[in-house]
Amino acid sequence: MKTAIATVCLSGTLDEKLEAIAAAGFKSVEIFENDLLSFAGTTADARAMCADLGLDIITFQPFRDFEGLPEPQRSRAFARAERKFDLMGELGCNLLLVCSNVSPDALGGVDRAAADLHELGALAAKRGLRVGFEALAWGRHVNDYRDSWEIVRRADHPAIGLVLDTFHIFARNTDLKTIGAIPRDKIFLVQVADAPRLDMDVLQWSRHFRNLPGQGDLPLLDFMAVLHTTGYDELISLEIFNDQFRAGSARAVAVDGHRSLIHLIDQLRRRTGAAISGAPVLPDRATCRGVQFIEFAIDEATAPSFERLLGGIGFRRTGQHKSKSVARWQQGDINLIVNTETEGFAHSFNITHGTSVCALALQVDHAAATLDRAQLLLDRPFRQAVGPGELEIPAVRGLGGSLVYFVDQASTLGKIWEIDFDTVPAQPGGDAVLTAVDHISQSMHYEEMLSWLLFYTSLLDLAKIPAQDVLDPGGVVRSQVVETADGNLRIVLNASQSARTLSSRFLTEFFGSGVQHIAFTSRDIYATAAALQAAGIAMLPIPENYYDDIEAKWGLAPDLLERLRAGNILYDRDGDMEYLQLYTPTFEDKFFFELVERRGGYRGFGAANASIRLAAQARLAGRPERLRR
Ligand code: MG
Ligand code: MG
Repeated sequence: MKTAIATVCLSGTLDEKLEAIAAAGFKSVEIFENDLLSFAGTTADARAMCADLGLDIITFQPFRDFEGLPEPQRSRAFARAERKFDLMGELGCNLLLVCSNVSPDALGGVDRAAADLHELGALAAKRGLRVGFEALAWGRHVNDYRDSWEIVRRADHPAIGLVLDTFHIFARNTDLKTIGAIPRDKIFLVQVADAPRLDMDVLQWSRHFRNLPGQGDLPLLDFMAVLHTTGYDELISLEIFNDQFRAGSARAVAVDGHRSLIHLIDQLRRRTGAAISGAPVLPDRATCRGVQFIEFAIDEATAPSFERLLGGIGFRRTGQHKSKSVARWQQGDINLIVNTETEGFAHSFNITHGTSVCALALQVDHAAATLDRAQLLLDRPFRQAVGPGELEIPAVRGLGGSLVYFVDQASTLGKIWEIDFDTVPAQPGGDAVLTAVDHISQSMHYEEMLSWLLFYTSLLDLAKIPAQDVLDPGGVVRSQVVETADGNLRIVLNASQSARTLSSRFLTEFFGSGVQHIAFTSRDIYATAAALQAAGIAMLPIPENYYDDIEAKWGLAPDLLERLRAGNILYDRDGDMEYLQLYTPTFEDKFFFELVERRGGYRGFGAANASIRLAAQARLAGRPERLRR
């Protein structure tokens, strides 16, 4: 299979789009007519540019409102087609994409449309060109691929074939079975697009909300599996209309696009067990066992107050890096790294972002294979100098230029603490009974959300759960969770289109996207609250009204309610399962810690409480004196 992308997917001018497409590793491109019409150079210039970039022009598209017209419109449509054929000759492209007629003038009838296409096929063949016919979901008479296939079949001309587009097929919930009966040589092109399931006008849905395979809710793999039974192994092309993509970076969307196709074809290979021609064989999606460590980039001036906070929530410094100004802090199975180096990656990260999480290390089964998969998916690997005898941990770039490390037990990486760190004598201090990393919450620009969703789900065995909208006093925040089936790794992606939400203000304070909060699992939330109080750590104050509300909502016993209130603990319930959570105030107005206890297998994140927490944080923003201890 060969991968391709339509220029309509990307922002920018034709030359910017083509450069981005080539830079993302594509070899084939569909030229959208408007991109050529608005191009400042000649058609020959566009052709030369594609040749220079190593791009094969696979289609010129779309040609609209052709089949089933009465005279005189019919003759005019043929004359228009001849002009497009001229242009295709200049462009060096041999496939014209004709989409089904939406004109009110169009007449129905399969034979009439087939006769028109047969005649067009004869004209195209004379010039060595071909025509692919596509059913738009909103076509006037032809809006189902089974009808477009019947028309192509009856047109019975070697230069006439079918274009299948997953969006149009799934938009109408059309049965996929018939695809399996189409001869592979009659399928001229396959266009793939995903989309979120939205209950809205199909045309608007298509024009604004399509997204890349894996980013939406459509069962693209089912489509690919049926297509595979025909033996089709030619072009798979992205045709995505999406407002965010057209406003975003062409280079980033092109890379994401290529990544989504590589991932889709890899999924097809796994589903069918068959080798797919032209496609790289990727190692398995990494099974994620949990978080090995979280690394903070801190400057020396800030380190004492940050370390007081860590100590206050029960962490102890247990190790010191053998050659660097890097300390290990532990509690339960949690490892935090405090990096106060004055050169290198963490230092640069700190200069840009201030106190921040600069790296996450994930426990996987095979770190080297995970890095291989990442590179085949076009993720960006990262390397930096390590001292003699020290470990080089495989890493790729993550959100906001941070790092994602891969650590396994199969290699020497499993001995990182012994190899790179010296043990330091035990420090005195209380235990906050925290045992593990529960979830990591990342704030990002709204336009980035789909990109990081694809990054995580294509590389790791993470699944997305339906996104939720959370109310912040400054606007709506979209929250998308990706998690392993066993909950060993949960990442929450947050973004907002409002500049006034906490999520967006984080981006300003942080100077970019990054980790906004980390939640740790508590063995006993009341013991945790007591430990924090004993250590003089302020907690995010929760208003009285909240407790009145949950008392009424859940019928909570007075003593339980009092314990929650005393600890500023938020409470959620799902059947018999319970979720108890409390928050530290934000550190330097940027990030904070959440401490949670899950009871009875609770799987959520206390979404019902998020607006309470956000309002409490908004009240405190920039006014830490309002904190009560
Ligand atoms: Mg299409
Ligand atoms: Mg949380």
